[in-house]
Amino acid sequence: MKELKLTTVEEFDREDIEVGKAKKRLFIGLVAGAATFVILFLLLILILPIIGLANIHPWAPYIFSLMIGSLILLVVWATSGLILNILFGRSLFMFSRMRGLTIRLFLPLMTLVGRIFGIPKDRIRSSFVKVNNDLVENQVKRFQPKELLLLMPHCLQRSKCKMRLTYSINNCKRCGRCPIDDLIGLSEHYGIHLAIATGGTIARRIVVQRRPKLILAVACERDLASGIQDTYPLPVFGILNFRPNGPCLDTNLPLDVLEEAIRRFMDPRCYPENRPVSLDRMRLVKGGEPSAEEQQTKNIG
Ligand code: SF4
Repeated sequence: MKELKLTTVEEFDREDIEVGKAKKRLFIGLVAGAATFVILFLLLILILPIIGLANIHPWAPYIFSLMIGSLILLVVWATSGLILNILFGRSLFMFSRMRGLTIRLFLPLMTLVGRIFGIPKDRIRSSFVKVNNDLVENQVKRFQPKELLLLMPHCLQRSKCKMRLTYSINNCKRCGRCPIDDLIGLSEHYGIHLAIATGGTIARRIVVQRRPKLILAVACERDLASGIQDTYPLPVFGILNFRPNGPCLDTNLPLDVLEEAIRRFMDPRCYPENRPVSLDRMRLVKGGEPSAEEQQTKNIG
């Protein structure tokens, strides 16, 4: 196997950080653009009927202006809160619900603004996933393995493989011809449930059955963006898949990024290396046979 040079890894990390920053910049630009559109729209609503309102009641234009002014202030407050949150990586005072606001309000608006400026949808979605991940990282705590869920798309499975994995991942023969084998290894190593979904409905059913506190999901930009929206307020950390054969066919994933995310969200006390080692395992590691006394205790037990 070709050895990876340190300089290559550093270069890769640098590029990765640059891509992350570019995604954040795009997101901030789109959010600011969307907010400007909303404010202009509100100003338009304010100016047009103001003359006619005076005929209804002398106070009517003032009450109406106050309402629209409050809405404008709300948009400015929410936008600056979100941008500051993205830039400083912390939930500022009274901005703890930023992820909900981003998902419910800003993503549809950003998509609209992006369409006006001809920005591809997948670029917008990928910048949304990046910002969502940052917000999730800043907001959630650490979890037990049973509170986490690894949710994978079925296109990771080799297209020629006949095993049905949707109902049970254990149907995989672990032949190593597709990433599912390594994923099962990762799920066993960390003790986290692994599920494969063929679509949104099955993904939702898995989430309802398992009731996780955090989902680590791998998918394309479209599925991740819609999955994050669908499962809100449940936090989802999204990882983009690789598609060397085009969409939905024999896809792959950055396994090291997934493992890094698992360790980021898992309580360190539950890391495999920090779990208490059982007597049996110690014996296996040492390669020793159980003593007669231990064997007797085991038999009685
Ligand atoms: S590892 Fe082998 S058996 Fe398992 S899903 Fe992939 S191709 Fe099928």
